Formats: sequence, structure tokens, C-alpha cells
Amino acid sequence: METTEKLIISNARTYFLNGNTVTYEFRKKQLGNLKQMLKNNEENIFQALKKDLNKSKHEALVTELGFLYSEIDFAIKNLRNWMEPKKVSSPITHKGSSSYIMNQPYGVALIISPWNYPLQLALAPAIGAIAAGNCVIIKPSELAAETSSLIATMVEEYFDSSFFTVIEGGKEEVEELLKHRLDYIFFTGSSKVGRIIMKAASEHLTPITLELGGKSPAIVDEDANVVLAAKRIVWGKFTNAGQTCVAPDYVYVHEKVKFKFLKAAKRYIRAFYSKSNEYTKIINEKNFDRLVSFLTNGDIIHGGNYDRDALMIEPTILDKITWNDPVMQEEIFGPILPVLTFSNLDDPLYQIKTKESPLALYYFGEDNQTQQQVIEYVPFGGGSINDTLYHLANPHLPFGGVGTSGMGTYHGKYSFETFSHQKSILKQTTKFDLPFRYPKGKISNSVV
Ligand code: NAD
Repeated sequence: METTEKLIISNARTYFLNGNTVTYEFRKKQLGNLKQMLKNNEENIFQALKKDLNKSKHEALVTELGFLYSEIDFAIKNLRNWMEPKKVSSPITHKGSSSYIMNQPYGVALIISPWNYPLQLALAPAIGAIAAGNCVIIKPSELAAETSSLIATMVEEYFDSSFFTVIEGGKEEVEELLKHRLDYIFFTGSSKVGRIIMKAASEHLTPITLELGGKSPAIVDEDANVVLAAKRIVWGKFTNAGQTCVAPDYVYVHEKVKFKFLKAAKRYIRAFYSKSNEYTKIINEKNFDRLVSFLTNGDIIHGGNYDRDALMIEPTILDKITWNDPVMQEEIFGPILPVLTFSNLDDPLYQIKTKESPLALYYFGEDNQTQQQVIEYVPFGGGSINDTLYHLANPHLPFGGVGTSGMGTYHGKYSFETFSHQKSILKQTTKFDLPFRYPKGKISNSVV
């Protein structure tokens, strides 16, 4: 019996193979549709994000909708140029020929997304997949059920279902989808599930991108602008209640500036997040209980209150933390900031280098040479100097992890490239035929 998943993939492949997605006009129109779909549903989107995560309108606008609008605008503006075949030079041995690279869509792209930015992380990869000329299937996270259902309804209303469709559900639906041949898989989620996806993709040799997580450090050096560092780390950490893949997971502070840093950090937490009814909640009981268990680690020097009925945890700072504490054994993904102290920068750098490569790293300090030393010698996906999170909102920068924090990149042009096969074409002349490649023989080297 044909499953729904099999039928959807086969409809999409037929639609693709019939050449429907090839032209610039088609892709531009679909990107416009996507923007219109979001614009016309803003209120529904705010409501769904409020129900799933208690996200405030401000956060929903900045981190979900606003991000999508700029990615769509950027793609529409640059699409024609991205689609142009790129001419490259040919060596002298290829005299008479011209060479170029064409970006070819893969076909049917599957996007599997997590719950923490349930709209943005489902649709941002879709912008690249559509721009590149693929048919798209999204499997949003079942844990953000309201947003998942809204995405399904909106996409059904605005797109031809053979071109772009949504399959709701969880593990079982993903397993069923992965039994069949897909032409590209774009997965955002945990490293644990990333391994499952990669294994399944290998059955059909389907190319993949894995956008995963990890423990992203922030380092505050003794020459940093400490108060600004505290402000930017507090914002990066506690936005979305710490449920951000690139949130600073923990902070390493130079002992000489620790007191000043902590004082400023507490002040900014109070200034930014004192309205608890506007603060993002923890996605479910399982994560809530996991996070609360960390509150016995070290000393709570700010926050520490929680409400299980509302799934709320107050922005919390833990001092006197060591690498042996449970909070340092896994990605926290919640509003708890452990603080470690150093006196020699080599110590944190050694610790970070010898552990799994983080998705992001944030270094706060003024000395150019030290900044260079940190970014050159420590492996991590991407990051910022003297800031947090902002690197991912620049469409000119590729976004992605390395090692266990992921493989492949997207955003801006990199999304288009991710969902395109770079096809090499050599166009040869028939006006003459240089002889040196052929074995020496009696046949004339003339063209005929
Ligand atoms: P997750 O891996 O549990 O789930 C992600 C997706 O996989 C969901 O759609 C889910 O339905 C599906 N899934 C879950 N278990 C599965 C299984 N056994 N087989 C097949 N599919 C399965 O991740 P999550 O809890 O939704 O998200 C949190 C994680 O995602 C964190 O580790 C975070 O760092 C990471 N993340 C990374 C990025 C990034 O851009 N790199 C962004 C957001 C979140």
C-alpha cells in the first residue's frame, strides 16, 4: 500500500521532472507568495508562537518573522544573479572551448525542523530550496504543535501541494519519509537525531545539511568592555529563554573583571526580563525537569525561581561552576548561565579546543592579536567578536556548524548554493580539433 509520505514525494518528483520549477519567474513568484502568506497571517503567527512558547510579539517579530522577511527580500533581489551560469576560464589545453558552472536544483528537498524557532527554522531553509528551484516538503516539530499546524494550513492555502507541502508529525513520520528516496535533506535539531538522519540518508546516498547544537562559549577577557559584554551576553543567552542553538551556553570570565561583569549582568536581566508574563516558557515538562535539576549546581547568584505549571524558569546565573558539574556535560538550552573563571586565556581555549566543536563562540576583548588567536586556533561553526548571535543575521555570512555541531551552511546566497548542485559544463568548438590528446595514428587530425 502506498503511504501518504510516498505519494507526496512521488507527486513532488513528477512536478519537478516536468520542469515546473525551472524558470526565474516561477521561483520569484513563489518567494513572493511566501512573503504574502506571512504578511497576511501575522496575527495568527503571533498567537501560535504565544501558545507554543509564550513568545512575546517583540521576540516573534525580531527573531522569526523579521528574519524571514529579510531572507525573502534578499533572495528575490539576488535571484537572477544567483541563477546566472558562472563563466570560468579554461586552460590553454582546452583552446576553443568555454566553461561554466550551472546551479541545478536537486529535486525534492525535505526540511526537518525543531521547536525552538518553529516558524523561522522551518521556513528559512525553504526560502533557499525554493530559490534554487526545488520542490519542498517540510516536517515541522510536533512539540510546537500550534505553529506546526499553522504552517501546514498556510502552505496548503498558498501553494500547489505538488510543489510545496507540509507533513506534520514526529519520529514516525520522519522514519516513513526517510524510507523513500529524497534528493536533499536539510535537518535542524539535536546531534543525536542528526546521526539518525545521516544514517538513513546514506541508504539512498542523499546529500544532507545538518544544523545541530552544542555548548557555545562566551569568553570575557580582562580588557573587554565588560558592561557592554554583560548586556550582549544577557540578551544572547536569555532571548527565547535560552532555547537558541547559538545562545552562549556558559561564560568564561577573567577573574579581574568577574565582579563587574556579574553586577552588570544582573542589572541587565532585571532591565530586560522582569515582566514574567512576557517571558518565553520552556517547551515541555521533560526539558523543564532537566533544567531545574541543574539549579543545584554551584551557587545561584541570580534568579533560580521556577513554576512547573507555567513551565517558566527565571533567568538564572550559576557561579562556582566547574567542568565536573552536570550543567557542563550537555547543551543547556534553557535560561541558566553557568560562570567559570580564568586567569590565563590559554586555559579556556584549551578546554574548548579539546571538547566537541561548538556551533558558536563569542570572544569579548579589545586586543586585535588576541581576537585573532581565538578565532584562528579554536574550531567552531561561526561567531562574533564583542557580540552574541548577530553573525547569524547577516545574510552575507554562511551559517552552520562543524564536527558535532553540524555540516553544511545556509542563509542568503549560501542557502541557494546548499540546495543546488554545481553542474560543470564545457562547451567545445567544432571549428578545429587539437591533435595532442589522441594516440598517434594514421587518421587525419582535421575536423571531419
Ligand atoms: P530534535 O533533534 O529532538 O528534533 C528535531 C526534529 O527531528 C523534529 O522535527 C522531530 O520531530 C524530529 N525527530 C525527533 N526525534 C526523531 C527520531 N528519533 N527520528 C527521526 N526524527 C526525529 O531537536 P529539538 O529538540 O527539536 O531541537 C533542539 C536541538 O536543536 C538543540 O540541540 C539545538 O541546539 C538544535 N538546534 C540547532 C539549530 C541550528 O541552526 N544549528 C537551530 C535550532 C536548534
